[in-house]
Amino acid sequence: MKKTTSNLCLNSHLVEQKNHSEKVFSGELLHVYKDEATLPNASAGRREWIEHPGACAVVPVFSNGDCVLIQQFRYPVQQLFWEVPAGKIDPDEDPFSTASRELGEETGYCAEEWTYIGHFYPAVGYADEIIHIYLAEGLIQGEQNMDQDEFLSVYRVPFDEAISMIHSGEINDAKTIASIIRVDGFLNRKKKE
Ligand SMILES: [Mg+2]
Repeated sequence: MKKTTSNLCLNSHLVEQKNHSEKVFSGELLHVYKDEATLPNASAGRREWIEHPGACAVVPVFSNGDCVLIQQFRYPVQQLFWEVPAGKIDPDEDPFSTASRELGEETGYCAEEWTYIGHFYPAVGYADEIIHIYLAEGLIQGEQNMDQDEFLSVYRVPFDEAISMIHSGEINDAKTIASIIRVDGFLNRKKKE
């Protein structure tokens, strides 16, 4: 086993070369492709993957440390989930505009202070989806304005409780886990400054 390295360029011999790409499904949100690629050992391989427009996740945090979570039913797994406010990036929309729009639409809050925390890829095995994480502070209550096909409940939860809910498995949506853990790290570093 090799030692971990942050320099991924060292492993350029692992790159797979795309030779042919066929779009086999085109939906309103997702596009599915079936590709042929040359693998690192020069053999031919098939790669099925989903093109996604990307999304933004927002962790809204009040001055006392409480955060805003939503509860939403997710159709593919037929379950209710605790989540942070989030949504896909519309065509020609920049990620910050998506984040502030989704926060307002889903929770009714707008934020005076925004911090870009970073991004992650939730499903690299089969999708190119990227999710940008934002911390929203200086929250001001407005009115919810959800999409017609969107139904959710908004909760105010102490930040430490949200962390406990991740470790207990009560929060098990990937973007919510990643976003809260990244924001927790950011806020802890800020406290020490
Ligand atoms: Mg959403």
